[in-house]
Amino acid sequence: MSKKTFTLGIFGGGQLGKFLVEAAKKLNIRTFVFTDSPDSPAIYYSDDFIISSYKDKKKLDFFIKNIDLATFEFENIPFKTLDYIEEKINVSPKPSIIKILQDRLKEKTFLKSIGIKTTEFYYLKKINKKNLNDNIFPILVKTIRLGYDGKGQVFFKNKKDFVKYSFKNKDYIIEKLIDFKKEISIIISRYKTKSVSFDAFENLHKHQILQKSHVPANISPKLNNQAKEIAKKIADKLNYIGTMCVEFFVTRKNELLVNEIAPRVHNSGHLTLNAHNVSQFENHIRAVCNLKFKKPKRIHKAVMYNILGHDIKKYRSKETINNEFFYDYGKKEIKDKRKMGHLTKIF
Ligand code: ADP
Ligand code: MG
Repeated sequence: MSKKTFTLGIFGGGQLGKFLVEAAKKLNIRTFVFTDSPDSPAIYYSDDFIISSYKDKKKLDFFIKNIDLATFEFENIPFKTLDYIEEKINVSPKPSIIKILQDRLKEKTFLKSIGIKTTEFYYLKKINKKNLNDNIFPILVKTIRLGYDGKGQVFFKNKKDFVKYSFKNKDYIIEKLIDFKKEISIIISRYKTKSVSFDAFENLHKHQILQKSHVPANISPKLNNQAKEIAKKIADKLNYIGTMCVEFFVTRKNELLVNEIAPRVHNSGHLTLNAHNVSQFENHIRAVCNLKFKKPKRIHKAVMYNILGHDIKKYRSKETINNEFFYDYGKKEIKDKRKMGHLTKIF
């Protein structure tokens, strides 16, 4: 394999990786995907790929030798791998940042330290279950690491059930359940010295999985700007390079609480492929490769629906109409609740 042109290495091979690869191609950048699963949509589009455990040093060495820069479409990369690659190649965003945002406790502690509001939280290891204030219930207890799409979350309505429940270990975070008005997210791309962000996406979750996102979000311009300012503060404090997503709860009192941060492109930004002048994916590539930035502008109103599990079959046989864009991720195995594709409608 020759290394004549610039090659971007991407950790993770899911649909986010597929869209990143396509955006890179448009900018004449070669891509090399490193994934631990053979059922990875991105490998059909990238110039090269490796399917291997993220811990295999020989494979990592080969990958590093053949790329100019690495980035992520997936943040749950083992710490040891993050440390290993940090020393050997340019990586954006920095593995040290991924380590904070991979861990719900570190993430919320960091946010608190820079004066950003989150939902009230406790570390299970550091509390006595019986002493937890009754006022915090109902609660969600989440695994600190490796959770996604609601995986690793347990709900407790009252203290009695919570005290009775025995956890496998104590690496859980306890969060007050927020009776929110709505959920929004901000997708921001930070370059070395400046950043650009999309206006808020409004998101609806069902069983903790994103079901639908739409733009414009039905919020005031003031709240939209506040959310963008918070996202900018987080990106600046982290000295982040690349695209990240900040998920918020809008409380009944119109207060913004940060729910979580994804150090990568995000499902709520899929509609940028069709509704904006530039997609979140292109902006990520531009930011990490230090190309000229593009300020996002919305061209259409839009709504995006996630297609989960066996529902994909219905969509595969359905004709789309003019204002609809159907994306089939081409995953081989259909699993219940697995993200198989999405449909965006523009207006
Ligand atoms: P994941 O990493 O699985 O996306 P999140 O923490 O974002 O985990 O939770 C998924 C969804 O579950 C959220 O978007 C929200 O709808 C709901 N949820 C999570 N935490 C809370 C909370 N503290 N209060 C109310 N709803 C919550
Ligand atoms: Mg989430």
